[in-house]
Amino acid sequence: MENFVVSARKYRPATFDTVVGQEHITTTLKNAIKTNHLASAFLFCGPRGVGKTTCARILAKTINCQNLTAEGEACDTCESCVSFNQNASFNIHELDAASNNSVEDIRNLIDQVRYPPQSGKYKIYIIDEVHMLSSAAFNAFLKTLEEPPSYAIFILATTEKHKILPTILSRCQIFDFNRIQPQHIANHLAGIAEKEGITAETEALDLIAQKADGGLRDALSMFDLNVTFAADRIIRYKEVLDNLHILDYDYYFKLTDLLLAGNLPQSLLTVDEILRKGFDGHQFVVGLCRHFRDLLVCKDAATVQLLQVTENVRRQYLDQAVRAPMSFLLSALSIGGQCDMNYKQAKDQRLHTELWLMKLANLRNLLNWDALPDFPINGSRNGEFNATGQLIADKVGPEVAEKKNVERTLPNPPSPDAVLKPEPDELARPAENLVPETHPVTSEPVNGYRAATSPNGSATNGTAYQNGHATAANGVATAPAKPQIVPPSRPASSRLRSTVPLTTGPVQPLADTITEVITTAQSRPDQPFTFEELQDTWMTFSRNRLKQVDSATEQLVLNRDFVLDGTTIRLTLDNTLQAGYLTDLKPDLLGYLRSELQNSQIQLEHTVTLQEVKKMIYSSQDKFNFLAEKNPALHELRKVLNLEVDY
Ligand SMILES: [Zn+2]
Repeated sequence: MENFVVSARKYRPATFDTVVGQEHITTTLKNAIKTNHLASAFLFCGPRGVGKTTCARILAKTINCQNLTAEGEACDTCESCVSFNQNASFNIHELDAASNNSVEDIRNLIDQVRYPPQSGKYKIYIIDEVHMLSSAAFNAFLKTLEEPPSYAIFILATTEKHKILPTILSRCQIFDFNRIQPQHIANHLAGIAEKEGITAETEALDLIAQKADGGLRDALSMFDLNVTFAADRIIRYKEVLDNLHILDYDYYFKLTDLLLAGNLPQSLLTVDEILRKGFDGHQFVVGLCRHFRDLLVCKDAATVQLLQVTENVRRQYLDQAVRAPMSFLLSALSIGGQCDMNYKQAKDQRLHTELWLMKLANLRNLLNWDALPDFPINGSRNGEFNATGQLIADKVGPEVAEKKNVERTLPNPPSPDAVLKPEPDELARPAENLVPETHPVTSEPVNGYRAATSPNGSATNGTAYQNGHATAANGVATAPAKPQIVPPSRPASSRLRSTVPLTTGPVQPLADTITEVITTAQSRPDQPFTFEELQDTWMTFSRNRLKQVDSATEQLVLNRDFVLDGTTIRLTLDNTLQAGYLTDLKPDLLGYLRSELQNSQIQLEHTVTLQEVKKMIYSSQDKFNFLAEKNPALHELRKVLNLEVDY
């Protein structure tokens, strides 16, 4: 059995040109060698596995090479290069400071520095993890580092630059290594796969590159792991997901589409599937927030570059970003942040996650972006239709791979520019492609639920229902005629009523999402309201709070009698503790009352009744005063006998 060499060592770059993703450093080093302007000490900083030690070794080999190439690379044939390649050179010394961090170790090193090289021009000392050196060792090293012999070059490498003493930093030429871009890692992996005779799906390599988080060594270890698992020497996307225990991107895309369509039941089932696969709920929450962030970043051509993904995934993001309205993403991120923060405190974390999903699925009803044409990128009728179309495609082809295939056939993936100014045609086209032509489709469960959400049957749901059927009908028909889109018949101004049916629906309105709606809503005329209406709304809020926060004091505050003075509610409280609770509640409460009663003038004021402070009798003086008050003759007695109270 031949020796297995891990890819990270087998394919360790041997020349500056083959170093992945650190061009700014390799170019500088090559120029320094060509012009003979080498510093005597270098500090290589950067995350693990990005090529610090590799660059140090290449530098050592190159400056000792006896006939450099014209490009400033080592020749790989001279005596020095050969001994370097066989790890037999005496001119390179590596010290792992993580395990040799004492003064003694550094003294040994300094002793070696005194002897010039037997062959070649330079002796190179590579000190890895240099931040682990003890401060005594650092100090012992300072003198040598400042005035080394002409033949000695020190290369210090560290992942934690901030732990290096300033006195060391100022004596070194500092090079900061980048995290390597996922696309570069993926390309590098593809090259290795080809050399090894391994077939690898592009998505699989993209996934490994993404998971490696900029570290090439990590990527190569994961690559090796997957090669070991792949019995037939084919690396498949599905298997990589399992081997590395990664949550498929497609779950996030699918879930976002479901939430955009307000499809709560299917969302809950999807999350159940994720949790049953053994993924951590908190990781999922963070992951979905991250997904929303990535979509948000896609909304502007200037920020698309912040999206650190490979080309295929980027296209999916741009595609979904067109469908997701800005208001949805911002609100989703806001409540997502709260969910993340409170996750550890939640007693029932699964319920906590599901509540979050309910809020997210509800955003569609709350924000009602179909009626808002003014958003930067409007998720208008086309957007909604797209979301519905996507949904149906999911239902037909539940297999992820199949869905991926469907997406890969998109004729015109939207470019960043197209995202900014989506033309109606551009938006409608993907939907046509996504609707399969031959499979009969039904979207009953989706719309059935949506109808149930608001028994009053608001116009939004009616429209969605029609759209769903229009799509389904076209799916059944063999001629894929352009689906006719029914625009909402409701006037745009009535969208503000959309929060009202929620109070009667199965999903309770949640105060924080509602306050967000208020911030996004535009000004409107104030409606008059009666005291009874106010009381009812107040009680609804109180009941909702009780379900969320089971606090006796809070309920005490909420259940007090109040008076209405014009649009100002006046409340009398017993003590400052209650006042504190009310102050905390006030933004939510006022927001709720104002939106439910449609009156922005409502104010809330409270007073604290001052309890009569009963004076206690403690000291002798108090006792004397108390008695003297009853019998003033005591004063006279004290004066005559010249008495002091204390004695
Ligand atoms: Zn050479």
